[in-house]
Amino acid sequence: MSKLPKDAGPQTLAVHAGEAPDEVTGASSPSIVMSTTFTTKDAEAFSIKDFDESDMPYIYTRWGNPTVNQLQDKLRVLEGAESCLAFGSGMAATSALLLGYLSPGDHLIVSDVQYAGSAELVRHTLPRFGIDVTPVDTSDVNHVEAAIRDNTRLIFIETPINPIIRLADIEAIAEICKAHGVRLAVDSTFASPVVTRPIELGADFVIHSLTKYVGGHGDALGGALLGPGDVMMALNEEALVHYGGVISPFNAWLIMRGMATLPIRMQAHSANAMQVAEFLEAHPAVRRVNYPGLPSHPQYEIALRQMSCFSGMLSFQVEDGPAVARKMIDELRVIHYAVSLGHHRSLVYWIGTDQIMESSYHLEGEQLEGFRAYAGNGVMRLSVGLEDADDLCRDLDRVLSG
Ligand SMILES: *Cc1c(COP(=O)(O)O)cnc(C)c1O
Repeated sequence: MSKLPKDAGPQTLAVHAGEAPDEVTGASSPSIVMSTTFTTKDAEAFSIKDFDESDMPYIYTRWGNPTVNQLQDKLRVLEGAESCLAFGSGMAATSALLLGYLSPGDHLIVSDVQYAGSAELVRHTLPRFGIDVTPVDTSDVNHVEAAIRDNTRLIFIETPINPIIRLADIEAIAEICKAHGVRLAVDSTFASPVVTRPIELGADFVIHSLTKYVGGHGDALGGALLGPGDVMMALNEEALVHYGGVISPFNAWLIMRGMATLPIRMQAHSANAMQVAEFLEAHPAVRRVNYPGLPSHPQYEIALRQMSCFSGMLSFQVEDGPAVARKMIDELRVIHYAVSLGHHRSLVYWIGTDQIMESSYHLEGEQLEGFRAYAGNGVMRLSVGLEDADDLCRDLDRVLSG
């Protein structure tokens, strides 16, 4: 890894960063170290507190594992972060940051719309631990700044946002954070490390569900948290060693294998999604399409600034969502009617506005209207895969026109 040129491009980094030929066998591809324990030379040490964490031997896989370390290194280099920790899922990474970094009496500002699991965690769990939470529409930086209080410690945004594909201006929010001494965390799952680079734009922490684009093949759960070395060192002990949400070395290996093709996959997802988005926008049965690559997106200008391509996530409105969803389940031949996203297979799922308000967001007034502007009564969330775009358009057209 030390031999990689300093000016290597993102595709070279995606292929080589974090890994090197095995020193013992010469194997060119990384081997999986599944061992949960490691033979040691030290007869005494039994707690992670007995070690200097920056230079710790392998002892027990919950404390550190060579395959997991390779994944962490690859992600750290691709994202341009000081430090990376991998977790068993995206939610484990999110809860590690929120529970590990915040304390009773702290105030957290979050996006009023975000991944439903994160929304439920911040609204239902954090208040139980004495953490105040204020959801705001993060597409308006004035709303973000107005919500800051003396005890605000963290702002947690997501962009593009699930499921309405609204964007947040990372650079503008980072400036506000710096001015107020608040840290900024960005869930960048929908963009992946090759489409948007939140740390270069001023963010402190980045979260990825590796289950999505980074792994890319729908066969391994994983999550990552990236950020400044000192905070991450403390979180390593608290969140990984003590909360225990570690990733399996096998999943780390699968995800690392997926990462080698991440830059070229994102280009292909983006090109396919563009064609599908244009097709849907012109379709008489479609009311509105939310895709950052369309000039009709209300924040197209932000997309051009902070996204190198537009990723593969879009959502769209139809007249009768539940009826179209039922038709999709029966009649789609290529696209799977299923949750999740970022896989080589295209996935579509109906998300009703009333349902998600009740389960997850609980929005009212202006914030609810803001959601409805993008979603109406609900959206079809479509993760555009790597199939032929013509086949995807025909698959959708059969259901929408029939
Ligand atoms: C899926 C997802 C998560 C949660 O990740 P898991 O790996 O399913 O735990 C968090 N944020 C976003 C934006 C997601 O899409």
